[in-house]
Amino acid sequence: MNAQCIGLVCRDCGTRVTESEFSLSCPKCGAPMRVEFAPGSIREALKNGLPEYDGRSYLRQWRCVLPISDESLIDRVTLGETETSLLRSHRYGPSRGIKDLYFKIEQGPTLSLKDRGTALCVIKALETGAHTVCLASSGNNAASVSAYGSRAGLRPVVFVQKQVSAAKIFKSLVYGGKVVRIDGDMATASRVCSEMVREKGWYQCGGPNPYRVAGKRTFAYGIVQQLGRVPDTVLIPCGGGAGMVAAFDGFSEMLEAGVIDRMPRLVGVQLEACCPTATAFREGKDVVVPVEKKPSLSDAIMNNNPYWGKYCLQAVRSTGGTMITVSDEDFIRTIRNLGREEGLFTEPAGSVSVAALDKLVKVPGFEDPGVTVCNLTGHGLNSPQVATSDSEYPEPVTPTLEAVEAFLAQ
Ligand SMILES: [Zn+2]
Repeated sequence: MNAQCIGLVCRDCGTRVTESEFSLSCPKCGAPMRVEFAPGSIREALKNGLPEYDGRSYLRQWRCVLPISDESLIDRVTLGETETSLLRSHRYGPSRGIKDLYFKIEQGPTLSLKDRGTALCVIKALETGAHTVCLASSGNNAASVSAYGSRAGLRPVVFVQKQVSAAKIFKSLVYGGKVVRIDGDMATASRVCSEMVREKGWYQCGGPNPYRVAGKRTFAYGIVQQLGRVPDTVLIPCGGGAGMVAAFDGFSEMLEAGVIDRMPRLVGVQLEACCPTATAFREGKDVVVPVEKKPSLSDAIMNNNPYWGKYCLQAVRSTGGTMITVSDEDFIRTIRNLGREEGLFTEPAGSVSVAALDKLVKVPGFEDPGVTVCNLTGHGLNSPQVATSDSEYPEPVTPTLEAVEAFLAQ
């Protein structure tokens, strides 16, 4: 039996709206909304444990805890977003004293974590009868919404800022996204997108959408099913903070349903170049104050005013976790080490969860993090040249055995 969705509830004041009254944020206080299920219905849906995995779309795999009204829409939307792999580290962890380290390769059909939330958002867009899906983003989320929107036969519109490289929007263009390059910065692009949503009734697939978090939270279900137990520590890259909130929601539900017997410690990771949530955590604050971004080679998780910041802090603190910051040098080294030691190619934002391990084990209480899962949120091809230099590009080698041997001996 499937858990019964009964609407959306405000995360702060508890105001409720039905699914058909859909609101991106609380109509009373403006706080983020959470998808709400009938009391006890997730426990009932999971009474026989987590459903066995058989290679199907995660939308079907986790259907019993997803708010989907019309299951026939899954076939219209799916791009083959199967549950992502959980790989045990062979070398990277053990060589650094972490013997039970796992990598959650959270990279969907468009090569990033965004697909998990997007797939559900686009189903909800179809359920509401919307014809246009939109968001403000120039990165992985834009590509994901462009792909799923096109797949579903909807019109994807993506708002980007004036200063944007063609390479960053390349994927969105190929996936059929209508890219609106606003003459202004990202905040301006976001404002115009919101105005179009209000004026035109377009479906907003971006960060505040509560269904995005509801979709993303199945990542926690995937980890527990694949491990066969609850991990001790989970490291999650934090930009806007939705991934952390989603993980907290998912693990909390499994705890309440009796699938797991305790929460893992949730560790958020940010870049030193933009770390408003980590700063608030360190200073003992309950809210996140916007910061000035410093330059970084990463173009993701550089969110200086995170929408989910306050809730991200709550998730980290209530599970006994912590926040770690890493530098560009840290993630470049990690990208190279993951390639050489594990055969994994991650983009900067995805590698920070692994880059944070060296610092994490120096935090009191985390010397032995136990069974540890790092969330690798995007494939290296999303920014392929960050961790290599032109000087590494190989010179032509004379096509003789001697020349090849001489080259290999260098
Ligand atoms: Zn409220």
